[in-house]
Amino acid sequence: MRRAVYPGTFDPITKGHIDLVERAVHIFDQVVVAVVSADNSNKKPLFTIEERLSLAKLALENVEGVEVQPFEGLLIDFARSVEASVILRGLRAVSDFEYEFQLAGMNRHLAPEIETLFLTPAEQYGYLSSSLVREIASLGGDVDSFVDKNVQLALADKFQRGVQ
Ligand code: ADP
Repeated sequence: MRRAVYPGTFDPITKGHIDLVERAVHIFDQVVVAVVSADNSNKKPLFTIEERLSLAKLALENVEGVEVQPFEGLLIDFARSVEASVILRGLRAVSDFEYEFQLAGMNRHLAPEIETLFLTPAEQYGYLSSSLVREIASLGGDVDSFVDKNVQLALADKFQRGVQ
């Protein structure tokens, strides 16, 4: 079985992430969306790990061949534990490249048997990021085109604003 791990903070999951997963399921038998727990990264997520997991599960419930799981610790250890041979990452603009290149190199050094594969999203999601979505939502902007309904509601709840 060809299995890929798609790791990220998913704070929150956006249509860009979903687009990538929908592409990946055509290539792999199974895609494990690995949601990093807060204490793993130096970021302080807006949503708790439970919220990020549940929003990702809801957003991907109609996509066949996907599993959403939390992870902490080293990504390559998690990838090995689920017997994935590929780490999937998204590349948007050139600005993503340097960090992703470093990460892929480091992961290859740590786990030479695991390949990193990059996919690019549909054009309309090329500039979309979770951080922009959080910022727009915090200022009362409409994030309808960027996230699904459950995420919209969760953002509105966090920022105590209504959703039309
Ligand atoms: P991280 O904190 O690891 O960057 P993110 O949740 O922000 O986690 O992103 C996870 C992965 O999804 C990264 O590889 C990122 O480049 C990719 N990604 C994020 N947004 C998009 C998008 N709009 N289109 C394609 N890939 C994306």
